[in-house]
Amino acid sequence: MHHGYTFRFCPVCGAKLISSTLKEFEPARLVCSQCHFIFYLDPKLVACVIVEMNGKIVLLKRAIEPQKGKWVVPGGYVDRGEVVDAAALRETREECGIDIRIKRLLGVYSYPGTVEAMVFYIAEYTGGDLVNGDEVFEAKLVEPNVIPWEDLAFQSTTDALKDYCSFRGVKQ
Ligand SMILES: [Zn+2]
Repeated sequence: MHHGYTFRFCPVCGAKLISSTLKEFEPARLVCSQCHFIFYLDPKLVACVIVEMNGKIVLLKRAIEPQKGKWVVPGGYVDRGEVVDAAALRETREECGIDIRIKRLLGVYSYPGTVEAMVFYIAEYTGGDLVNGDEVFEAKLVEPNVIPWEDLAFQSTTDALKDYCSFRGVKQ
C-alpha cells in the first residue's frame, strides 16, 4: 500500500528537498536545501481489532478502495498523539457501531517496502448494534473455522487471522 506521493518541497520553509545519504546503512533522507529540516518518511500506524462476540468474530466487507469488496477486521489509522488502544476502539465504533474491550495484543505486522505497520488486538464485544458504517458494505459475524481466506483484503488480515486461529486452536 504505497501512497505513491513524492515530496518535493520543505514543509517548514517551502524550499526544495534534496535526497541525501546522512548515515551509512540508513536510507537516503529528504533534506531541505535551505533550512536543513530532515523530512523523515515514517511508517503509518494502523490499529486493528479481532472482535469476539459469542464465539464468532466480526468481519467487514470494504466499501472503499483499496481492496473494495474484500473482508477485513475493524481498524484504521492512529492519529498522532492518540493512544493506540483508543484508536482501535474509535475505529471499531466508526466502522461497525459496536463498543469493545481490548483483551490482549495479538501482534504487530509489517512488510518490506510498505507504508503501514499494523497493530492487531483481540477484543470482546461489550455493547451496541452491529451496523454497516460509511466505509463498509456489510458487517457480519463468522465462526473462526469458516473465515473466507480467499477474499481477505490484505496480507496483514490473513497473517493476523492465521495467528489468531492458531492461538485459539481453531482447525480450518
Ligand atoms: Zn526548509
